[in-house]
Amino acid sequence: MFNDQRATQMLRIGQDADFSDSFCEPLALTSAYSFSSAREAAARFGGTEPGNVYSRFTNPTVNTFEQRVAFLEEAEAAVAFASGMAALSAVVMAFAASGCNIVCARDVFGTTLIMLRQHFARYGIEVRVVGMLDYDAWEKAIDSDTCLVIVETPANPMQHVADIARLSRMAHAHGALLLVDSTMLTPILQRPLRQGADLVLHSAGKYMDGHGRCIAGVVCGVDTLMQPLRAVLRSQGACLSPMNAWLLLKSLETLELRMQRISANTLSMARWLDKHPNVAAVFYSGLESHPCHDIACAQQAGFGGVVSFEVGMSQKEAWACMDALQLISIATNIGDTRSMVTHPASTTHGRWSPEDRMSCGIGDNLLRLSVGLESLADLQQDIDVALKIALEQKSQSLQGCSLLETLE
Ligand SMILES: *Cc1c(COP(=O)(O)O)cnc(C)c1O
Repeated sequence: MFNDQRATQMLRIGQDADFSDSFCEPLALTSAYSFSSAREAAARFGGTEPGNVYSRFTNPTVNTFEQRVAFLEEAEAAVAFASGMAALSAVVMAFAASGCNIVCARDVFGTTLIMLRQHFARYGIEVRVVGMLDYDAWEKAIDSDTCLVIVETPANPMQHVADIARLSRMAHAHGALLLVDSTMLTPILQRPLRQGADLVLHSAGKYMDGHGRCIAGVVCGVDTLMQPLRAVLRSQGACLSPMNAWLLLKSLETLELRMQRISANTLSMARWLDKHPNVAAVFYSGLESHPCHDIACAQQAGFGGVVSFEVGMSQKEAWACMDALQLISIATNIGDTRSMVTHPASTTHGRWSPEDRMSCGIGDNLLRLSVGLESLADLQQDIDVALKIALEQKSQSLQGCSLLETLE
């Protein structure tokens, strides 16, 4: 056993080490901060002196991440959260109140709609859901009681693209804020604040992390909008872990390179799928045939890393294709360096009603592919073989049916 002095020293020796010349940003894995005096503690808590208080609402590593994202988005400030959904719920808590309404596109991340309809609707916030490309419906739905307009563009999985400038004019005409979920493109390929969005949200565990390691969220905008958000964070407490902020800082260093490569890979993949005889339809805003191609070209610097396509007529062929893939992983995520595929109707959008899925065009035969950094030729070969297997199974089962009929 240590004597008393050693027990104390073992906890204190080296605690003043200077990390200021560390080339990698130091990881401030700390919950608390030490104050030089009782007076300083009181002043920091009261907000009359700047400085860290407690990592629920400020942390140097998280702060560095926020500053980098704000820079990339050309925003005055950013606030980081534990996840994209934590960020969105903080936005609703900060800018909505009972008696007001939120107008949200139907084509948003599945959980966004569920959160608004199942949870926030219970607090007296009316939720109006409109078809993303139906601008007459937006016009009708937004009124003087609207506090927030929420859109995700490009939207997942059909790659519909909203006209951000047009929606921002509609929102501002009624004094509402426009929030754009820009997760799919990152600030490298799209900066919605330029087109008039008030708040830009990212599920930062997707392309920003890019290696599928952490869950994180961030919101950017002008300082006056970030202050109420930070106040909510302080009480709501869904703060980003410093560890995850540190991982994200490393990831942001390669964000531009990754997004350029992923976007180029995905455009080539979409064109290849479009010509493939075993693919029924392809959805990617980079294709000239996509209904939103023109607006995508006007407001984006690339089309991103997600392409959706239909295989056969039903879930059976879509699942058979997924199961036959050897290289591409089955995972319900996007934005990793490694490619992955998912079946939206039974996973990400499985909690939606079939009518909601149909109105967004999410069929049972739809697959969503998140293209990574692998060689395009290897990915295409994997899909080519899987498509053959999936559709052969179909023709075999059809033969099986006709055989039975003949026997009968
Ligand atoms: C994943 C995702 C979210 C939710 O973010 P989490 O970090 O998983 O909470 C929101 N929007 C989009 C577009 C997403 O892909």
